[in-house]
Amino acid sequence: MNIRIGFSVIYAVLIAGLVFCSVKSFLSHKSIAQAVGLLELALIPTLTGNLIIIASQVEEISLVGCYVYFVGVDLVMLALLRFTTEYCSGIGRGQQAPIIMYFFPAADAIQLLFNPFFGHAFSIEKIIVQGLPYYRLVPHFGQVVHRIVDYTILLSVVLIFTVATLRAAKIYRERYSVILLSIIIVAVWETFYIFSRTPVDRSMIGFGVCGLLVFYFSLYYRPLRLLDRMLSDIATNMTEALFVYDSMGRCIWANETGLKLVRLNDTQLENVSSALINKFGRQKFTSADWTEDIVLGSGDSASYYTLENHAVNEDKKHLAGSYLVVRDNTEEKRRIKREIYNSTHDSLTQLFTKQYLFECIRKILNKNKDTAYTAIFIDVKNFKIVNDIFSTAFGDIALQQIADWIRKNMNGKCVYGRLVGDTFGVFMPSELFETKKEEIEKDLLNFVVSDGNVEHRLLIQMGVYEVSDRDINVSVMFDRAHFALSTLTDNYKKHIAYYDQNLRDKVFWDQQITAELNEALETMQIRPYLQPIMDRTGKVVGAEALARWIHPERGFMSPGTFIPVFEKNSLIIEVDRHIWRCACEILSDWKETHGDTFISINISPKDLYFIDIVSEITGLVKEYSIDPKNLRIEITETVMITDVQGGFKMLAELRKAGFIVEMDDFGSGYSSLNLLKDMPVDVLKIDMKFLSDSDNSPKAQTIIRNIIKLSDELDIVSLTEGVETKQQYSQLSDVGCKLFQGYYFAKPMPKEEFEEFAFAAVNTK
Ligand code: C2E
Ligand code: CA
Ligand code: CA
Repeated sequence: MNIRIGFSVIYAVLIAGLVFCSVKSFLSHKSIAQAVGLLELALIPTLTGNLIIIASQVEEISLVGCYVYFVGVDLVMLALLRFTTEYCSGIGRGQQAPIIMYFFPAADAIQLLFNPFFGHAFSIEKIIVQGLPYYRLVPHFGQVVHRIVDYTILLSVVLIFTVATLRAAKIYRERYSVILLSIIIVAVWETFYIFSRTPVDRSMIGFGVCGLLVFYFSLYYRPLRLLDRMLSDIATNMTEALFVYDSMGRCIWANETGLKLVRLNDTQLENVSSALINKFGRQKFTSADWTEDIVLGSGDSASYYTLENHAVNEDKKHLAGSYLVVRDNTEEKRRIKREIYNSTHDSLTQLFTKQYLFECIRKILNKNKDTAYTAIFIDVKNFKIVNDIFSTAFGDIALQQIADWIRKNMNGKCVYGRLVGDTFGVFMPSELFETKKEEIEKDLLNFVVSDGNVEHRLLIQMGVYEVSDRDINVSVMFDRAHFALSTLTDNYKKHIAYYDQNLRDKVFWDQQITAELNEALETMQIRPYLQPIMDRTGKVVGAEALARWIHPERGFMSPGTFIPVFEKNSLIIEVDRHIWRCACEILSDWKETHGDTFISINISPKDLYFIDIVSEITGLVKEYSIDPKNLRIEITETVMITDVQGGFKMLAELRKAGFIVEMDDFGSGYSSLNLLKDMPVDVLKIDMKFLSDSDNSPKAQTIIRNIIKLSDELDIVSLTEGVETKQQYSQLSDVGCKLFQGYYFAKPMPKEEFEEFAFAAVNTK
């Protein structure tokens, strides 16, 4: 066979391959591609030079081939250096070739290009190969330099690759070792050629193949084992259970989660299918693609799974196998359920929150268009006092027991929730409410809460609104029920109030008088009546100023008709200020003639919220230059108990400023006796009304007697109001009461009448 033709063909094929690879590389977007492209490109002249040498039989052409080859080899060295440092980077900065390394092949190429002038590097000699002339290379000194340069670079490249191979993870090692090996083979082969001096440089095949390998390994090769390893790792450590089946439907592998799920170990794979069928109650686990959500158990202990089966096809006809993924969603589902529960339930009572209750009610109304419904607003009277006197812990228990009571009394047709604080809302079919009403009323008659040690009777009240207008906001329905409730007093006998025609009228009434208030104040339609207060001798020592409204159309109105309205809408402040000013005017009138007579004014607890009572009242006293001790201040014990806005402090300041402070309506509230010792008051107004409520009058007398005695001991003056009979008067006198007020002496009257009553009597005495 003709060697020349044979090698020429091989070289030409390799050159074509390198051209292809370099074009592909330059078109690639990979970061290493540029370096690979340059290396492929550099290999082309090297091989081409050799192709020329083999193919030519003319000395000059062979010489050109030699130059192309030598310069090509230098270019290969440059490109190889660049490629190596890039390919092996990331393995350690230590392997970066120093810049100077690039200088040597460049200088060498120049040195070789001077050979035509000096002939120092090589010459060629003619030999006969297979009967034809062949020009073979004869090396000189320059050639030695060339080889030293090339071998040095090759050695560094081999070194860098060796380090990279050793440092790489096992899976990646192949990437480096294949290239390293081919470089070594090429180097050895080339060395062999140099010394054998065979005419054709066969190692050029190695150069070409090495170029192709570099191209493949750096741009296309993916370590298969790496992928395998990663996939198997992912499958093994997946949080989902994974079962792999062969085409016959036999389980051939399961990950750890899977084995745990079916409670088997990896030697019992043949039992997996039946275990899965047992667990999930699914008849068959076929090899088709399907997904199913399965719930095991019920209620709080329910478990939720998603089963996902995938068939794996070898080709269109043949099934390779299948795999089943089982995801346990229980935690997730429970978390979501918990979150929904928390956002819709009150944490203390576990009842619905107000917002959720209203949403449910709206849905119920929309769904049951023909059912009549009733909204019930439940409130605990004076709940704050329960918290204050016992503890918030006890208050919490009380609220929980109310919630329990609601739960116990309602059925599936009712919805209920905690509205806010100590108020609850219930919504139920009106028919059902009718049947339950009496039972509820009975329970409320004596509603006792207990924490195991302490028992306390609660006053629970209900406002009831039978929904006549289904389109109004649910919150308005409860507002109406609440409004009905607000008509109840602190009465332990009546617990349920209805929003009915009377109440509607009342709403109308409230609006009317509210609209008229300003004018009434300006035109003195509202003015104080004075009710005399007597001492033990029957002498008038002062008066209580009580508001009256003399209406131009409606006529005479008692405070009971308007004070509660204004207390609710906070306009009471305007009324009170007006009465206080009137009282001061009267006192200033009397200053010269009856400077000892005092007037008591009423202060509503609401006032405390909105104005600075101390500065307001001291301001008035200054304005009218009256003695503060003549303007007595009546406050109710609510102010003390709830200590609203520093009620205690306010009283202390008033006393310091010289006012006499009276505790009004003593006996009507809660723990009056308990609080008495701490109260910064001068006078105790005991209301006969509250005591006469009691059937047992000897008992009531005992209570009064003791209160009077106690206040004496505490240096507090006792005043009994609501004295209606002579007998009451003398009895109270006997037990030591200091001051008296009541119809027995006189009713509240206009100023002029009072002056007549009080001062004329003194004058005639
Ligand atoms: P209060 O402060 O307890 O006033 C005493 C009430 O008892 C007065 O009712 C008075 O007329 C009534 N009364 C006096 N003696 C007797 C008696 O022997 N038997 C009976 N059954 N009742 C007697 P009035 O004037 O209807 O006032 C009712 C309530 O309205 C007052 O109770 C007070 O809380 C409030 N009030 C009256 N005027 C004002 C005011 O200007 N401002 C504020 N904030 N409240 C006022
Ligand atoms: Ca009063
Ligand atoms: Ca009173």
